[in-house]
Amino acid sequence: MKRKRRRWVIKAGSNMVCSGGPLLARAWMQQLARLKDQHGIEVIWVTSGAIASATERTKFKNSKRRTLSEKQALSAIGQPLVMDLYNLALQTSGMLGAQVLLTYDDLANKQRRANFANTLEQLLKWDVTPILNENDAVATEEIKFGDNDSLSAKVAGVMRAERLVILTDVEGLCDSDPRKNKNARLVHTLDRISKKLLAQTGTSAGSSRGTGGMYSKLSAAGEASRNGIEAWLVKGDLPDVLTRVAGNETVGTRIRAR
Ligand code: GLU
Repeated sequence: MKRKRRRWVIKAGSNMVCSGGPLLARAWMQQLARLKDQHGIEVIWVTSGAIASATERTKFKNSKRRTLSEKQALSAIGQPLVMDLYNLALQTSGMLGAQVLLTYDDLANKQRRANFANTLEQLLKWDVTPILNENDAVATEEIKFGDNDSLSAKVAGVMRAERLVILTDVEGLCDSDPRKNKNARLVHTLDRISKKLLAQTGTSAGSSRGTGGMYSKLSAAGEASRNGIEAWLVKGDLPDVLTRVAGNETVGTRIRAR
């Protein structure tokens, strides 16, 4: 059956969620309302930031070496804090959100994947915005590596989204490392994510708040692109960034669907 609305998956990283706080969350949710009203786009929102939000409010703030189980416990503390942020922001735009926590196993299992998809379809039909995160208290894949980048690509595939938008704290992909080369230039469009590009990017970790980094974003974008989903890597706090992506403006890095 043909869908009435276009569908995007948007993923916000830990650093963006924590440094942007309530103001940025509100700006994002206002843009979601505009995506729906002006462009007929419904959004599945994937967010990180649970561990980082909890870390900022606990005595773990300055300890760099946390055990995996400490991180998992922090995720359980932080998840309701993250949802508070989104619920408040959604409310301001007259919208409603729903929390869905999932694991890779849920998506790999045929029955659970179908259950997940059915729940999301129902929420979207009701105009409720699904807010997803990995269930870090029971699974650890994204804590070890990824900050939900890979999870969002998988969700985009399962839900047959048209676009995956990854909101990050850099402008997009540059042709060389902008921290080392001041002449580094932003790459606006890519036809594919090649193995060579991934190898050049290297698996160095992301920010101090999340485990993402450019490698995991590019590999998520590559997975989306191979599944026929266009991916965009954009700076999450650029004004109107989501509506600009909807207008196909030159912003961030756009990876075409194959
Ligand atoms: N799902 C995790 C969170 O929301 C990912 C964070 C990370 O990669 O460290 O906190």
